[in-house]
Amino acid sequence: MTARKTLKVGITGGIGSGKTTVCKIFETLSVPVYYADERAKYLLKTHPEILKGLQEVLGSKAFDSDGNPNRKAIAGIVFSDKDKLEWLNSLIHPRIAEDWNHWLWERLGKFPYLIKEAALFFESGSYREMDKMICVSAPQSLRIQRVMDRDGATKEEIESRMNNQLSQDLKMALSDYLIINDGSLSLVKQVVSLHLKLKS
Ligand code: ATP
Repeated sequence: MTARKTLKVGITGGIGSGKTTVCKIFETLSVPVYYADERAKYLLKTHPEILKGLQEVLGSKAFDSDGNPNRKAIAGIVFSDKDKLEWLNSLIHPRIAEDWNHWLWERLGKFPYLIKEAALFFESGSYREMDKMICVSAPQSLRIQRVMDRDGATKEEIESRMNNQLSQDLKMALSDYLIINDGSLSLVKQVVSLHLKLKS
């Protein structure tokens, strides 16, 4: 029996567009979802080689008083030091890639398609590894309001994070499918309709 081809589908979209919300709906349809950003945060906190590298190169200033890596402090250090930024990337990226590949290989051939969710697919170039891309979009004012409600962040903080990402228009143009999450169309209906296309 030949294994069936599993399509690799990327889901992206700007901050607060609703990527995670959309992925949770796909999960209810038994589609496997790899949450890349969440997984990267988890690996930063738990991967023994990452923790060892941080301790050796950055020392205790990279950690909270409870011993967990302090992402703000680490970002502050590498922000102004290009060599340290390169070193940090070379410490973290291969381990994240390994984690994703492991997750992927366990599922290839077992599902018609699977999903990887990440905010920076186009910015990082990792969209090239995907067979199809979905962009979740919503008006900027709504995205800001949703993230303010969710995280308690200020409008200025959210706008500054948005400025580090490609524009929503460009992400939409570069994607194969679009999910509109502006409250006017049913998300569930859009996901189910896409699910039927992707699984056939
Ligand atoms: P981020 O890039 O910040 O991780 P995201 O694109 O994954 O965000 P979500 O976390 O899914 O976005 O959504 C942002 C917030 O908006 C969440 O609190 C979510 O519950 C809410 N939200 C998303 N879509 C809707 C909707 N259609 N109606 C009401 N609330 C929504």
